[in-house]
Amino acid sequence: MSVIELKHVRKSFGTHEVISDVSFSVEPGEVVCIIGPSGSGKSTLLRCINGLETYQGGEIIVHGESVDATKSRIRGIRTRVSMVFQRFNLFPHRTALENVAEGPIYVKKEPRAEVYARSRELLARVGLGAKMDAYPAQLSGGQQQRVAIARALGMNPDAILFDEPTSALDPELVGEVLSVMRSLADEGMTMVVVTHEMGFAREVADRVLFLDGGVLVEQGSPDEVLGRPQNARTQDFLRRVL
Ligand code: ADP
Ligand code: MG
Repeated sequence: MSVIELKHVRKSFGTHEVISDVSFSVEPGEVVCIIGPSGSGKSTLLRCINGLETYQGGEIIVHGESVDATKSRIRGIRTRVSMVFQRFNLFPHRTALENVAEGPIYVKKEPRAEVYARSRELLARVGLGAKMDAYPAQLSGGQQQRVAIARALGMNPDAILFDEPTSALDPELVGEVLSVMRSLADEGMTMVVVTHEMGFAREVADRVLFLDGGVLVEQGSPDEVLGRPQNARTQDFLRRVL
């Protein structure tokens, strides 16, 4: 069974259609990178997958369950698919450790002691064993994003969605975040990554999707899409970013 499946998904804001008939699936352990120009619908697509946005047509299925607007089910989807945002979105008045522990304790109602033990392990795994009691403002952007990744992992998700996780970082901090993501991929985490990091997509992605104007223009292996793009729009985009 696919972890995530989209069938002919359409999404509009008012009369403006921003996702047009998009279909693809993500298999267990797969890393799918989504590339495309600004405004092409990449963030909206991720937000539809984890129920942060409603959609008007087609169907999104996560782990066999249809993502629709009913609240109790959406809560279920969010505990299965975690999201890492461009701007970290950590709770500013909670320490790194508390940020990681919050979801499992309050959303999943897991026992506090177990959650804290696991959260400490996760922070150590992203290289922040020494920063557990720091507040977000005391951490660099790269460290904050690694806390956000530990927080996503803390929910024991079936998949993690990353929305341009390195675009808000100073260039020298990008590598530490990409290297954590690369190790998650190596460990078999199912990931959908919206990114402008073509090197990461080329090395880590199993599949690359090119989205333009809400249309899934081209998809294939990194070699196919980044190396030998067939569509003129993909070729044009890559000429501009590479
Ligand atoms: P990307 O992430 O690829 O840059 P987005 O998904 O953010 O693209 O946006 C896709 C399109 O949807 C854009 O035209 C954007 O202006 C529009 N859009 C995004 N969010 C909203 C919103 N909440 N209300 C109205 N239009 C939106
Ligand atoms: Mg975006």
